[in-house]
Amino acid sequence: DKDITRLSYDVVVIGAGGAGLRAAIEARLAGKKTAIISKSLFGKAHTVMAEGGAAAAMGNANSNDNWMVHYKDTIRGGKFLNHYRMAELHAKEAPERIWELETYGALFDRTKDGKISQRNFGGHEYPRLAHVGDRTGLELIRTLQQKIVSLQQEDFAESGDYEARLAVFAETTITELMLTDGKVAGAFGYRREDGQFLLFEAPAVVLATGGVGKSFKVTSNSWEYTGDGHALAMRAGANLVNMEFLQFHPTGMVWPPSVKGILVTESVRGDGGVLRNSEGRRFMFDYIPEVFKAQYATTEEEGDRWYTDPDNNKRPPELLPRDEVARAINSEVKAGRGSPHGGVFLDVSTRMKPEVIIKRLPSMHHQFKELADVDITKEPMEVGPTCHYVMGGVEVDPDSTQSAVPGLFAAGEVAGGMHGSNRLGGNSLSDLLVFGKRAGEYAALYVDQTAERPAVAQSDVDAAMAKALTPLVEDAEGGENPYTVQHELQQVMNDLVGIIRRADELEEALVKIAEFKKRLASVRVGGGRKYNPGWHLAIDLHNMVVVSEAIAKAALERTESRGGHTRDDHGKMDPNWRKINLICSVQGDGVSLRRQPVPTMPIELLGLFDRSELAKYLTEDELAAFDESTK
Ligand code: FAD
Repeated sequence: DKDITRLSYDVVVIGAGGAGLRAAIEARLAGKKTAIISKSLFGKAHTVMAEGGAAAAMGNANSNDNWMVHYKDTIRGGKFLNHYRMAELHAKEAPERIWELETYGALFDRTKDGKISQRNFGGHEYPRLAHVGDRTGLELIRTLQQKIVSLQQEDFAESGDYEARLAVFAETTITELMLTDGKVAGAFGYRREDGQFLLFEAPAVVLATGGVGKSFKVTSNSWEYTGDGHALAMRAGANLVNMEFLQFHPTGMVWPPSVKGILVTESVRGDGGVLRNSEGRRFMFDYIPEVFKAQYATTEEEGDRWYTDPDNNKRPPELLPRDEVARAINSEVKAGRGSPHGGVFLDVSTRMKPEVIIKRLPSMHHQFKELADVDITKEPMEVGPTCHYVMGGVEVDPDSTQSAVPGLFAAGEVAGGMHGSNRLGGNSLSDLLVFGKRAGEYAALYVDQTAERPAVAQSDVDAAMAKALTPLVEDAEGGENPYTVQHELQQVMNDLVGIIRRADELEEALVKIAEFKKRLASVRVGGGRKYNPGWHLAIDLHNMVVVSEAIAKAALERTESRGGHTRDDHGKMDPNWRKINLICSVQGDGVSLRRQPVPTMPIELLGLFDRSELAKYLTEDELAAFDESTK
């Protein structure tokens, strides 16, 4: 059949961001024939855009740091809803993964005595982010790609074929996972350039597809992030956990309209940038929540002293976790104290010397100059919240990263649980290294343990092909335009499932989503199969809609405010809800939702926290059990 190219691998990794590349390296190191598939150009992924750095308790900048402090910061940031085991593995293994990158050739910024330098970030008690100026993700991807090339060269020396055990398929989109007897048997997709269909037969698939932000109008995410991995997993029978938790990054650009949503890195605040409203007030001092009062400065003087003397002063509230800062900015704008274009002011110009700004924040300097004609060494930036990161994702076993579907693994942003209700900045780059490696390792192990490779049924291939081709017609007249549907969906999600939520609006969103679902059937696109973005979007829309449904359903169900989920009508954090994970799966053509207990944190991890802090999050019963076990 000339319409399809059939390929056979041991492990297929969908996604070429940090998680995917790290997984592929590990699978190849375990001797497995591995494919890496990337929807866009190889080397272009959100990981590249990561600016601030990768969090790892190496203790280089402050020797008091260790995995236990990092663990506590992560759990606090996630408001105790994180999967304890993922957060534990992450905090323990992140330093090793960073040092290992150096052996692959990474060049991090240095301390005076030659160690990897670490910078401050919101929610992290000590300077903890390993970084390369504000271009850390670029270095991370460069290094991982370099490692891949070096492995390919080894294979060439051995076999005469660079791609003997590690092949990259760029601009290739997976649209369906293939299952046989409930187990992974492969993945089906198309090549962007010519529309050629490809079938990858493989017993193990690693999802590393990143986020879902493109379903929102104002977002830091780029075009690829239509929640493909989340949707593929659900359709294959895996579960998504806690999709209501989305991170609205507090500082996106707000002006000009064409760049609205583009990220302004948190390092701007980590390095001394302050937030002010139109009255010139550093308003974050008015928004320190009770649970964080003990850790943050209450006066500007103390906050300012902290930058030079962190051991004897508390950090400024500009460095509260992102959910807190985003909500505060939202409130200031709503109260009429916003900047001219509907944001607030973020200022480094009055606090840092121009040469320091240019050295430490080169990309930000460039970004504002080029896109907004603002010189950040001379004037403040205007910023506001932007949809940035999804904490919810595929429910996985923490150690192996395997989902409920045998042979299906997930790592990086597409996986859920690690960050609880809110992710700390810098914890994503370390997350994707730690769990990317584990995904590759356990996928390889799974292949070793699979005696017989499941064969892909021809009928499944035919069905996948027919589904992909449905929207493509000679004449699209009379059909729904995919761009119109996407635009309307983005607006609905932004307006009704955005940073502040209410039951009636979420219900309205679900009615609209049900309509989008119906409209999907009549989306039509003209033109051929060669490089046809309209056709590609028509396919992606199915993923965007099902993921949006999961987000809206979970957001309606959770009647409390926690981390990246804020309910106007249920403003408080409720200790009873802390015990509940919301699980989404696909049933028929809809998303079904159920409650599931949050795995219980073992006593040796709970005991890392002061009792007074636990009392802010746990129920009376849980506290009594804690007291009993520590007697
Ligand atoms: P990504 O790097 O997002 O890669 C996903 C890959 O999957 C891509 O290759 C994509 O093409 C591919 N893909 C998607 N769908 C398909 C499909 N259907 N078929 C085939 N391939 C597919 N985090 C930090 O820790 N520190 C930071 O400083 C930081 N800064 C950030 C700045 C910006 C602007 C953004 C957007 C994010 C930032 N983050 C940061 C978050 C972090 O970068 C991401 O969460 C992380 O890089 C996700 O990595 P990943 O490997 O899971 O996926």
